Amino acid sequence: MLLNAGLPDSDGWKGWPVKGAYLYAPNGRSVRIPGNGYVVERPIMEREMAKAATRKGARVLAAHDVCDVIKEGGRVAGVRARFLGEEREFRAPLVIAADGFESLLARKAGLNTFQPAYHVDSGFEYLMSGLDIDADAIHLFFGRDVAPRGYVWIFPKGDNTANVGIGIDARLDATAKQYLDRWIEKHGKDYGLSNASVLEVRGGGIPVGGFLKKMTADGLIVVGDAAHQVHPLHGGGMFLAMEAAEIAADVALKAFERGDFADSTLSEYNDRWWKLRGRSLETALKLRYAFERLDDEDFNYLVDVLGSEDVLAMAEGDAGAVRSIALRVLKDRPRLAWKFREFIGDVVMGSGG
Ligand SMILES: Cc1cc2nc3c(=O)[nH]c(=O)nc-3n(C[C@H](O)[C@H](O)[C@H](O)COP(=O)(O)OP(=O)(O)OC[C@H]3O[C@@H](n4cnc5c(N)ncnc54)[C@H](O)[C@@H]3O)c2cc1C
Repeated sequence: MLLNAGLPDSDGWKGWPVKGAYLYAPNGRSVRIPGNGYVVERPIMEREMAKAATRKGARVLAAHDVCDVIKEGGRVAGVRARFLGEEREFRAPLVIAADGFESLLARKAGLNTFQPAYHVDSGFEYLMSGLDIDADAIHLFFGRDVAPRGYVWIFPKGDNTANVGIGIDARLDATAKQYLDRWIEKHGKDYGLSNASVLEVRGGGIPVGGFLKKMTADGLIVVGDAAHQVHPLHGGGMFLAMEAAEIAADVALKAFERGDFADSTLSEYNDRWWKLRGRSLETALKLRYAFERLDDEDFNYLVDVLGSEDVLAMAEGDAGAVRSIALRVLKDRPRLAWKFREFIGDVVMGSGG
């Protein structure tokens, strides 16, 4: 997988390096997860990717609002778009729908993209400056009052700036912005936000489950948020979208070589993605169900007893590892057995919250 999207490091998109993450329980105690990564500058990254594509011969058309698919003989044969009030048609043997959450293209092409509200999180984020925080790691805050079903994040970007955001269950009465503002007011001073200013605001829906079983049709491949390819536990979708795009590109290349864009050919993408990711993401989804049942005391307990390898195994969606972690922790806290029931199976005796 091309973690750097094939871009040279020098292009400025890599943003800020971080060495791991701090996970904070509601009582303020934390566990540190070591690691290496970057808080990327996404607008720069996307522009560099577009430039790299044009160097390879692609034609980029900005500000085109795709409003429909063209279908011929039951197969997708192109798209209709509006550009500055002008209607335009583009015909192609293969359309790749990467148009994000609630993909218009996948739906208009006839795929089942139904997403129950239960599988939608609401994300909201400020780019803030004037922060004073340990910028060597990302910071994630958990708790029922903090972010139901999600967490508050601080992703440092260097130069005393950071993305400060939140993801929560989208069905709640209060908005993600309200939850985040409340957290900043209550805890911001403890994490260096007292003098911070908001430079930018961003928000949107995040699909955290309900992966598309079928992501191809005759002349169509669906990728990224459009196919709900987001990690159900932490809501991150960039890595998964890039990974899926790489499989899609490989399958598309073969389709062009053969001149065959039938669903039966393109479905190789479907099969490969489900084999590589689908199964572990289904495990992560079950883990999301378990986490939804946790109360603040459970979080406090888990942050004390889980090691960094445990947290990484959970994020990886390693079902066997999650089961042994669950069996280990429930020895001291039996009520977790019920909450992690999907992983413990027949070991569970009785029920209770
Ligand atoms: C507040 C917030 C913070 C997040 N933070 C992170 C994070 O830190 N890390 C992470 O991994 N993930 C994060 N995510 C999730 C991440 O943004 C998505 O999973 C990721 O962007 C998916 O990429 P994508 O290319 O599939 O879709 P998108 O990034 O949504 O891109 C879709 C593109 O299609 C365009 N488009 C849509 N409809 C049309 C149309 N009709 N015609 C033409 N163009 C169209 C859109 O303008 C957009 O450019 C966050 C989400 C939110 C809401």
